[in-house]
Amino acid sequence: MDREGCLVISLPFRRTACYSPNWAMRGDAMNIESNQELAALLIERLCAGRDNRLGPNIDEAAWAKPLVGFCRGDDSVFLDFKQAVGPFHWTPQEAYRIAFPDATAKPGDLALIVWILPQTEATKKDNRAETRYPSERWARSRIFGEAFNDRLRAEVARELTERGYPAAAPMQLAEFHVENTDRYGPASTWSERHMAFAAGLGTFGLCDGLITPAGKAIRAGSVVAKMPVEPAGRPYTDHNAYCLYLSGGTCGDCIARCPVGAISPAGHDKTKCSEYLNNVTRPHVTGNFGFAGYGCGLCQTGVPCESGIPSQSTDSDT
Ligand code: SF4
Ligand code: SF4
Repeated sequence: MDREGCLVISLPFRRTACYSPNWAMRGDAMNIESNQELAALLIERLCAGRDNRLGPNIDEAAWAKPLVGFCRGDDSVFLDFKQAVGPFHWTPQEAYRIAFPDATAKPGDLALIVWILPQTEATKKDNRAETRYPSERWARSRIFGEAFNDRLRAEVARELTERGYPAAAPMQLAEFHVENTDRYGPASTWSERHMAFAAGLGTFGLCDGLITPAGKAIRAGSVVAKMPVEPAGRPYTDHNAYCLYLSGGTCGDCIARCPVGAISPAGHDKTKCSEYLNNVTRPHVTGNFGFAGYGCGLCQTGVPCESGIPSQSTDSDT
């Protein structure tokens, strides 16, 4: 895929593949050096707040420190997504036009801002020990943690808009929907994982999860903003670069972790996975943990790509 137009972070004092600054934003007393830093600090501040919790009256964070990446709206990767997934898959410009029908914005005027919310060590440890059902912490992060992620989408869009950068979360637009495709089954008009790939935050694994520098036990979110950002390169060209099986023919550990055989050398069977989530884990979560929910994540924990980008040596250690 084309590497141009994507910015992870181009601040001279930061050269990491993704941006996770120490939290230093206090009211308006900020020393902000770029739009990217503004957005990253905003996201980190929100994640450090009281809303990031595993449930009502539970004083434990749902997510560890976020990673943030950027991509300019004129990156050709968005046209690649349209070709691969279907014409219904939005570019940032299409999403922006839906959100702001009276505004004008060229693709290069827009920034895609993406965050990765890593599971906490406690949640990963609990889920690693499971072989059939999700741990309670995992199920809570799926429901209450994702509810926080949704509030994060709205808050990031609102705060950027207030600061003069009109922004919207495509996942929250009324026009967001899922279509059935011959090749991939159900596919949505906006995929947070694909956007994270575009922003240089990770590549896809055999089980379809996104392997990021914080691993595959994550969730993602994004907004599109009319905000100048610099183009930069992704640290990969192959969309499966970080998966040991798809890039080197080793590992395959997520196949054995799946309790229903939804992962095979051919990839991820979305239908089988979703039937298990809905028909088996829903009653389990409600009956055992006392809230309406579901989840699994066994293929995201206890595997070499759980908490970072794996190497052949981590494969043999796990
Ligand atoms: S567990 Fe192994 S095969 Fe599965 S996604 Fe991770 S690296 Fe790829
Ligand atoms: S989420 Fe669970 S059921 Fe779905 S592929 Fe992963 S391990 Fe299998």
